[in-house]
Amino acid sequence: MSQPPHNPPAASSGYRGRLAPTPSGHLHIGHARTFWTAFERARHGTLVMRMEDLDAPRCRAEYAQAVLEDLRWLGVDWHEGPERGGGHGPYCQRERLDWYAEVWRRLAAAGAVYPSPHSRKDVERAVRAPHEEEEREPIFPPELRPPPGSWENPAAAGAPQENWRFRVPDGEAIRFTDGACGPQCFVAGRDFGDFLVWRRDGLPSYELAVVADDHAMAITEVVRGEDLLASTARQILLYRALGWTPPAFYHCPLVRDAEGRRLAKRTDAVSLRELRNAGLTPDDVRRMW
Ligand code: GLU
Repeated sequence: MSQPPHNPPAASSGYRGRLAPTPSGHLHIGHARTFWTAFERARHGTLVMRMEDLDAPRCRAEYAQAVLEDLRWLGVDWHEGPERGGGHGPYCQRERLDWYAEVWRRLAAAGAVYPSPHSRKDVERAVRAPHEEEEREPIFPPELRPPPGSWENPAAAGAPQENWRFRVPDGEAIRFTDGACGPQCFVAGRDFGDFLVWRRDGLPSYELAVVADDHAMAITEVVRGEDLLASTARQILLYRALGWTPPAFYHCPLVRDAEGRRLAKRTDAVSLRELRNAGLTPDDVRRMW
């Protein structure tokens, strides 16, 4: 497939944004709008493409390729990414596991996380971003927290082969002002509980990986769908525990179908690919939102 020339203007500001697709299917109009917004907000800055391919059974190389092609067709372009390189790579999460293990080690050394053998459905799901159509994560019962000092902090270099959770400050209101949605407040222990940072199969959770990457890639603003607002509260706690400054956040409204359901890759939402094959132009697609 031929690709349009891509030469995004060089950055003239310190803004660094990112596109963080999960290549588990073809992009649909909802993703397209969010990525277009991210692209527009980075017009005078730098845009990074990061492939969030940790969820191995669901992510496929051909989808990753299709995401890049479809976004370029739409007119979205980026400065750094898997096929372009850049100073903050690698740009595929599967290649960044050592960094996630290092971040987990720092959290363990700070006493912010604990091993948690209790395995629930959320353990399987933790590697994915918790989009709203999924059943809400149950609050992890605080009585299942191990007593302080009852586990050893692994100093060894390897990634843990055990589930680890972040201990949230019960009752604390986590506030932030979102660039699109305005002031937000989520109460730890009520709106979300101790969440997974590591899974016993040796993979980080979505929350850990995304914070580790946004920080390491020097992202100044995170643009994503508004169903991840509550995740931002969790992520702010991770930034705090790591002593890092969080980026700004801009959560876009979701594109919904006639019944008000969020368009998702796993429903039959029309993909960009199908619209393109049906003869629509990028302008036609942009007029759809
Ligand atoms: N890869 C995540 C997703 O597709 C992105 C979440 C984020 O932007 O933080 O849902």
